[in-house]
This record gives sequence, structure tokens and C-alpha cells, in this order.
Amino acid sequence: MSILPILIAPNPILRRKATLVSVVDNSIRELLKDMEETMIAENGIGLAAPQIGISKQILIMDVPTNISVDGEEIEGLEAYPNFFKMINPKISWASEQIATCQEGCLSVPGQFAPIKRPEKVRVKYLNENGESCETEFSHLQAACVQHEMDHLDGKLFVDYLSSIKRDMFIRKAQKIAQNR
Ligand SMILES: [Zn+2]
Repeated sequence: MSILPILIAPNPILRRKATLVSVVDNSIRELLKDMEETMIAENGIGLAAPQIGISKQILIMDVPTNISVDGEEIEGLEAYPNFFKMINPKISWASEQIATCQEGCLSVPGQFAPIKRPEKVRVKYLNENGESCETEFSHLQAACVQHEMDHLDGKLFVDYLSSIKRDMFIRKAQKIAQNR
């Protein structure tokens, strides 16, 4: 396993549409392990393959089920650990209800903004064994999976902001990344 460098916006690879994975083989499972190690090292809750320069439809996330979009613990829900590894994810259903979540991104370090997205989504994907799965997400998990899926489309959370704010966020993020 290895920790891989994370691409920082406006790297053009982050703007590419990622290609579908045709076969879930050992090389994909190896990549998933590297992504896991990288995400943990960077204290992220999600990571998409384009963020490490691999333009493939792969993402991972690790968000407990009982965390609200505000980052608060939701009473009455179990804090199930939920490490998801998804290949070729596709949204099969989205709620009409919208939720606002304070989002950040390892590719836009140090920048955060409230982003509106469907409150709940169902996602179809292949797991690391190549099996078809469908999972419904809500709360912070729903925001996270939609954020990571945007990466596979070449989209960043700053694209939901005004162009002035987006450019400012990207400039600040670059400075932060250069000073590390
Ligand atoms: Zn991101």
C-alpha cells in the first residue's frame, strides 16, 4: 500500500470525466487500498480516484450513518461504521427534499462553503468484489457520496458557488498547498 499525492485544483485531471471500470480485478483492489491509506493519512471522509490522478469511476468514503449535515450526532441512530468502496456509482433515486451541508475538499484545501444537494439518494454501484449493490444514503453520507460522484464527472464543490468565489477559493487553496 502507498500514500499517493492529492491533486490540487485547478489541475486539469480533476476536470476530466472519469472512465467506467470494465473489470474489477486485483489492480482495482490494490488501487482501493492505496486510496484508503491516502484518505486516512489526509484525514478525509471521502476520496475519488481522479483526486490521485486516476481518471476512473472509483470512490471511497467513511462517514458514520448518524452524523447530520451540520456535523452533529443524530440521537436515536446508530453510529454504524460505514466504509464504502464504490466502482461505477450511479444515482438511481434522489429525494426532492434538499439539505445544506458545509463542504470542503482535499483538492481545495482549507476552503469550506454551504452546498445544497438532495437530502437522500440511492446509489447503484459495484463493490470491490465486482458485485452489484444499491444503497440509500442520508445525512452527511448523502452529501459526501454526491460530492465524490461529482469528482467522477469532473465537477468540484466550488462549481456551485459564484465564479468570483470559486476563483478565490481555488487561489487560496493553491497558496495553502504550496506552503505545506
Ligand atoms: Zn472533493
